[in-house]
Amino acid sequence: MSKPEVMLGLEMPDVDVWSERVVVALGQNPNMFTGPGTNTYLVGTGEERILLDTGQGVGAYLPVLEQALERAGCRIQEIVLTHGHPDHIGGARDVQDAHGALRVSKLPHSGFDAGHAVEITPIADGAVIETEGATLRALHTPGHAEDHLCYVLEEERSIFSGDNVLGVGTTVIPAEGGDLLDYMNSLERLLAEEPTVIYPAHGPKIADGTAKLQEYIAHRNAREEQILEAMSAGNARIQDIVAVVYAAYPEAFHLPARSSVCSHLQKLEREGRARREGDVPIEARWERV
Ligand SMILES: [Zn+2]
Repeated sequence: MSKPEVMLGLEMPDVDVWSERVVVALGQNPNMFTGPGTNTYLVGTGEERILLDTGQGVGAYLPVLEQALERAGCRIQEIVLTHGHPDHIGGARDVQDAHGALRVSKLPHSGFDAGHAVEITPIADGAVIETEGATLRALHTPGHAEDHLCYVLEEERSIFSGDNVLGVGTTVIPAEGGDLLDYMNSLERLLAEEPTVIYPAHGPKIADGTAKLQEYIAHRNAREEQILEAMSAGNARIQDIVAVVYAAYPEAFHLPARSSVCSHLQKLEREGRARREGDVPIEARWERV
């Protein structure tokens, strides 16, 4: 998921070769939230390769996956998922129906995993998945989703970032299951890997992954600073903080910006730097501590 305004209209080829170890196949699920759709990846160099993420489960995906397999000259060894949002796990069943009972590995999440009719092989932080020419190491990176795993491709020191870093736009921190403090810690963790390329779940590949992570962190920190300043100026309600911080943006952006500001305030609350009056965070009165 990403912010709709920047994701629409981006064109990407259905199948593309992004490195000697990485072929991308587009999930065929473009919309306001997924932009050009979900990137699914064939990883490795051998006759059997890992399929990383499976798209949403739309019919048009399987022929594109076939095209990618043909281009790579390979079959699927197993399926590995970044997280259980429907645009990542949703195609797993279709791929199994077409390619046999492949193993599907992810960090389990009872809420997300139910209803997709696939048996999950549980993996966690530090898990290593190997195929010819590629070694993937899982990094638990919550914040966008509790079950989110990124994968370091050791041979390239590149990272499959899932929805934590995107080729275009900004990651959404959902009110349900999202957490900005966790997310910032996850970004720091990814940065510590000093990645070369980042392969995101949406949008084009990112040539300088480390620079992009620094940019993401700086952007969130700058926003937090603006929010703190708006609070210091006496703005206690989220709509008032939004009006100050997003003054340069059209009104249409102000309503969706409320949840973003709310995620910042909840982060500050967890850090003991803000407190609220009121049970419902988005409706509460907030002040700095
Ligand atoms: Zn997601």
